[in-house]
Amino acid sequence: QDGMMVTDLNDVIVRVNRAFTELTGYTEAEALGQKPSMLTSPLQDRGVFASMRRDIAQKGRWKGEITNRRKSGDDFAQWMTISSVHDLSGKVSHRVSTFTDISLLKEAQAKVHNLAFFDPLTQLPNRRLLLDRLHRAVASSARRKMCGAVLQIDLDHFKLLNETQGHEVGDQLLLEVSHRLMACVRDQDSLAHQGGDDFLVILEDLGHELHEAATRAEMVAEKILQSLREPYQLGTIAYNSQASVGIAIFHTKEDSAEEVLKRADTAMYRAKADGRNTVRFFDPAMQAALEHRIKLELELRRALPGNELQLYYQAQVDSVGRVVSAEALIRWVHPERGLVSPVQFIPLAEESGLILPIGTWVLETACAQLKEWEKSAATRELKLAVNVSARQFRQADFVALTRSIVEQSGIDPRYLKLEMTESMVIDNVADTIEKMHQLKSMGLTFSMDDFGTGYSSLAYLKRLPLDQLKIDQSFVRDISHDPNDAAIVQTIITMGNTLGMNVIAEGVETQEQLNFLRLHGCATYQGYLFSRPVPLAEFEALLERQAALNLAP
Ligand code: C2E
Ligand code: MG
Ligand code: MG
Repeated sequence: QDGMMVTDLNDVIVRVNRAFTELTGYTEAEALGQKPSMLTSPLQDRGVFASMRRDIAQKGRWKGEITNRRKSGDDFAQWMTISSVHDLSGKVSHRVSTFTDISLLKEAQAKVHNLAFFDPLTQLPNRRLLLDRLHRAVASSARRKMCGAVLQIDLDHFKLLNETQGHEVGDQLLLEVSHRLMACVRDQDSLAHQGGDDFLVILEDLGHELHEAATRAEMVAEKILQSLREPYQLGTIAYNSQASVGIAIFHTKEDSAEEVLKRADTAMYRAKADGRNTVRFFDPAMQAALEHRIKLELELRRALPGNELQLYYQAQVDSVGRVVSAEALIRWVHPERGLVSPVQFIPLAEESGLILPIGTWVLETACAQLKEWEKSAATRELKLAVNVSARQFRQADFVALTRSIVEQSGIDPRYLKLEMTESMVIDNVADTIEKMHQLKSMGLTFSMDDFGTGYSSLAYLKRLPLDQLKIDQSFVRDISHDPNDAAIVQTIITMGNTLGMNVIAEGVETQEQLNFLRLHGCATYQGYLFSRPVPLAEFEALLERQAALNLAP
């Protein structure tokens, strides 16, 4: 039976029924003369009361869900209807509220929801909930021009374990796997259990570029494979497992959620077919790129011990055309591929950590060269710039390592210039500044490479002990046609001069560009107009021909 209470126009309870006392725990004597607010739970959202009052005033009735508190202190959800009672003259005299306890109903509803959307064993979202999330992820990624990925993970030989050791042991493994998977993904990623030994992950915000997204998705997949390969203890049974992962990337709204799931599934079966314990992409081009990268990384590991790395030198000239310094640019002379550009292998070296030994080799080779140049009057005054990568600079002992290389080579550190990029600084401003000061106190100098392409903020620029700003070549390229680029270049020059730094322009290819730069106060240049990056012998030959450099008076 429904609970009922009657209130007068002063909102005072004047009657309650038996069901009211049973539901609320208050006796009739306790309730009469009180206000209905005696029942209100502190958990009840107060906003509801405003709409309740409005509806009663306008329509004479209200219905909705309310959380009340019993005398015992328990809260319970109830469905309440309030209607007005009129007297003979037609005026409102009382209000009648009836209510049913719907807490059991709500519990049942939650249970249904739980069964419908979560796996009963692992309590992870099931395929239905994941599909719903994937619909949203695909739409939102397409809108923001971002890439995302679905990873389908399937344990290898799970059936065998289930059949030989029983389902309980199988369930234990699935639980442990779900815990490990949770540890492998970020909070914003969705992890789901499709049932059986099948798991799904949605990764969002993997970047704007497909290949970038593929790399990131693959890194997560590798992490998952590695984590699932760790030994398991299932009760008394020690067990080893492994998995296969299929990856499908999504990035446009044409990629329907169902289609993406199908692709991930196809890719996963390909991984199984290719010998299990591995990752496969749905997209054949991505698969090829992945394989190329893996191969290149293997070969890069052998490049250093195999003496396949070489430094090229590119001249930096002053306003009267004298070569005052050089930038060392690494080249990989690959036995079959020929000359491989650093644009291709430096990012790979960064990702794999190979940049650390490679970076050390570059510094050692550059210092040895500076020592050589001390021997001749023609080269004694040359400075040499070396590119330092973010990961290299972030190593805890970068300062000590650089110091020992410089000391062992016996060079004058003033001739060594380190080229930094803006992104290296942003990551950890305080640590970067500290390291730069330590290196600076040894006598080294600093140049800010690719300047203008990062988040240059004057605030930190002033705090960095920089000697030089290097205008990025993308601005130099269109300097004479694009007024915007021209303005940027002028601003950088002014900024550098104000802060007392030398300004160098990179990528100077035409006389026109040179004229513009010179006119606006940039006095050092680097680019094909003067020389391409060349092997040492050619660079030294160039120095000898210095006077003949292509520079207008
Ligand atoms: P970066 O330091 O900004 O080097 C300038 C790049 O512009 C070089 O490409 C150079 O060859 C090219 N360049 C120079 N003048 C011109 C020109 O007039 N026109 C055009 N279009 N390009 C010009 P490169 O040698 O392929 O190097 C690419 C990037 O690889 C470098 O950019 C640097 O970030 C990285 N890199 C090169 N060597 C090393 C190294 O030893 N260590 C590290 N960590 N990175 C390196
Ligand atoms: Mg550079
Ligand atoms: Mg540059």
